[in-house]
Amino acid sequence: MPGQILIVDDLSLSRMILRAKLSSACYNSVLAADGATALALARAHLPDLILMDHHLPDATGTGLCEILRSDPRTRDIPIILITSDTSRETRLAALRAGAEDVLTKPLDETLLMARVRAVLRRNAILHELREQAAPVMRHALNEAQGRFAGKLRIAHVCSAVGRRSCALDAEPRLHDVTMSLPEALGLSSRHQLPDIFLLAPEITQFNGLDPLTELCSRNETRRIPIVVLLPPGKDSLGAMALDLGATDVLRSPLDQEEMRLRLDMIAARKSQADGLRQALGAGLDLASRDPLTGLYNRRRALSHLRDMVEFMSHDNVLPFALLMIDLDFFKRVNDDFGHIAGDEVLVEVTRRMRAKLREGDLLARYGGEEFLLILPRTGAAEARRIAARLCEQIEMAPYPLRSRGESLTITASIGVSVQSKLPSSSGDDVTHRLIDAADQALRRAKRAGRNRIAFRTVSPVTADHVLTGTRSVV
Ligand code: GH3
Ligand code: MG
Ligand code: MG
Repeated sequence: MPGQILIVDDLSLSRMILRAKLSSACYNSVLAADGATALALARAHLPDLILMDHHLPDATGTGLCEILRSDPRTRDIPIILITSDTSRETRLAALRAGAEDVLTKPLDETLLMARVRAVLRRNAILHELREQAAPVMRHALNEAQGRFAGKLRIAHVCSAVGRRSCALDAEPRLHDVTMSLPEALGLSSRHQLPDIFLLAPEITQFNGLDPLTELCSRNETRRIPIVVLLPPGKDSLGAMALDLGATDVLRSPLDQEEMRLRLDMIAARKSQADGLRQALGAGLDLASRDPLTGLYNRRRALSHLRDMVEFMSHDNVLPFALLMIDLDFFKRVNDDFGHIAGDEVLVEVTRRMRAKLREGDLLARYGGEEFLLILPRTGAAEARRIAARLCEQIEMAPYPLRSRGESLTITASIGVSVQSKLPSSSGDDVTHRLIDAADQALRRAKRAGRNRIAFRTVSPVTADHVLTGTRSVV
């Protein structure tokens, strides 16, 4: 913001009046007197919004909507049609063609400006999401199609449960539920959230626009579009409702078909924004994952460990253990069977280790053929059992190499460090000492012949453990 708005009207006086109105709110506008110029300007400027007269010398607003919607460059530009034609058919045809809204002349300027603000606000959010998600999208995640899969869940917020704000039952794609205002305000992530709220006229009649602002401000519901059904005689509340965060406002009497078209459009946009947010979430997650094994990478594992160390006194994670797991003679796998075979082995080793994890354990690929396993609430004895089980699991069965038609045996050595008491030193020191201790233990395991476990407790005093059993080492 401020946004750029394309004004399309064949009457120069109408263009000037609209331009003056928008300039007073500091919006920039470009002007077109006919359909051909409007299309050229829309493609050249990609405005944030188009305000378009329905009757133009060379086209209709509905026809232009269809053309703009069919072009990927212009399809997301919101269009508000302005017409003196009050017929239902014109209105529905415009909405079907993808117009955001149809305003009739003489224009209610307050409502027009509230619509403009609401559209630009929503567009700015979508634009920001698209920009942030762009790098993620390039990395093979599909952009949301802007279409709603499955049934659309509409929550009618009414004064009495069981009452509907309007009849939508004939529509098989819609799943509508009714809820009271306290129920809607009490929704949390434990509930199945609706895709759209419809605020029944009596809600606004009795409570004014407070329920709208409450729903818009709550974390759980603030991203759910809200359609306010205005009570009879209260059309003047429409502009304020839009400014307070309503996605749409509808006046009585309600037209079923119009309602369906509007809900479809709102759902498509919500789906698009949700898709972008999901892609962003996945993108952040991708940045902390190793692409070959899907495990968390070293950076993520260390930040998890640092958090654990920092909050160990509150989170009751003590004692906890760190396992540094390194595959034995892995270089030979690459040398003898090739790099692709090596990758296959890394993936299978990961699968075998993952199968042994408990809830709360974190396994990461620490480096090439080295893994880090963080085990909260695990003392020395339990860590030793887990390490022994992992060694067995890794060695247990041969690894068939699909790329070569052969199989081979793999073993691993594991260095274990355990933090058993609250340390006196700072978090970073503790983290480094734990990693270092696991690393030293690993090197001892290697030196002692590989395919075994070495062990080191860090607190209260550093001590190396002698383990008994087939895989033990000093
Ligand atoms: P040690 O028993 O002492 O650990 O011997 P090693 O051969 O396993 O250890 P070294 O550090 O000498 O070699 C590790 C090898 O792991 C070298 C490298 O080519 C291989 N490696 C590291 N990352 C990957 C990977 O992503 N894919 C494949 N195929 N090989 C990898
Ligand atoms: Mg190795
Ligand atoms: Mg190594």
